[in-house]
Amino acid sequence: MDKRQEDVMRIVVVGSVGLDSIETPSGRADEVLGGSAAYFAVAASYFTTVNVVAVIGEDFPSDAQATLTAPNINLDGLEVGAGRTFRWTGRYHENLNIRDTLDLQMNVVANFAPKLPEQYRHTPFVFLGNIDPGLQSQVLDQTDGARLIGCDTISHWIEHERAALEAVLKRVDVLIINDEEAGMLSGESNVVKSARRILDMGPKTLLVKRGEYGVLLFSPQSVFAVPAYPLEDVVDPTGAGDSFAGGFLGYLAESNDTSEAGLRKAIVYGSVVASFTVEDFSLRRLHALSRDSIEQRYRQFVSLTEF
Ligand code: AMP
Repeated sequence: MDKRQEDVMRIVVVGSVGLDSIETPSGRADEVLGGSAAYFAVAASYFTTVNVVAVIGEDFPSDAQATLTAPNINLDGLEVGAGRTFRWTGRYHENLNIRDTLDLQMNVVANFAPKLPEQYRHTPFVFLGNIDPGLQSQVLDQTDGARLIGCDTISHWIEHERAALEAVLKRVDVLIINDEEAGMLSGESNVVKSARRILDMGPKTLLVKRGEYGVLLFSPQSVFAVPAYPLEDVVDPTGAGDSFAGGFLGYLAESNDTSEAGLRKAIVYGSVVASFTVEDFSLRRLHALSRDSIEQRYRQFVSLTEF
């Protein structure tokens, strides 16, 4: 990547890059590319440029590396640690909103201390993908003057790293989590009460992902709802959340419009990108997209919700 391209990189993302083994009612895939930063980066790359901060092991396969290699994706911050790559194994129920983690091997992520390359430090949009909240904070400490900071987390960190997570939340503009995580974080089962409590923790905007039921936006001033794009065949829901976030932040960074109207449009783009991701295992469908196919489905989405 030449110097000129580095200067205009719009998003920095920290998260996991690893190998997933997944079983769904449609079939299985073993040791395929996954991780929050992988899904996010490829999704966002259809809109804008992304700097990746993550660690892989010495065993990271070259075909997985090739999937992440694109003109819009800068991998200078993708460190190769001594040891094995992060691995996650999951199995989905017949109801695809429910999944069990069968195995989690942190491997090189256990000793990861993110170091942002100099040219990453002033990137205007920052996304803290699902990873230890302590590492999310370390990344924020190395950024300066970000225009918008987005953040994701999972129940594991809400349960085991609560204090570190609360410290990150104080610094975040947009928190993107699912309804189960929102309930755990707030201690409230009603999503509106839950949102109010979470907004008191720091984020200016909360996006609650509700699987096949879509996404809710909460801010102190408003509530906004978007359905999920209705799909006949969902093959593998893995990465839907991360590619939603990639489409959402990607569009915001491209349009530079962080007004409420801009956020609403970005939610639709995020939903569109996520709807492609779940049509195949791993990043197979996401990686093979074009901006044209995203725009086409965006228009279908608009007519779906117009009344
Ligand atoms: P999503 O389906 O969007 O929630 O994200 C799925 C991705 O999260 C998978 O590709 C996993 O590799 C990754 N993942 C699962 N557990 C963890 C964890 N504890 N830390 C970081 N990444 C994880």
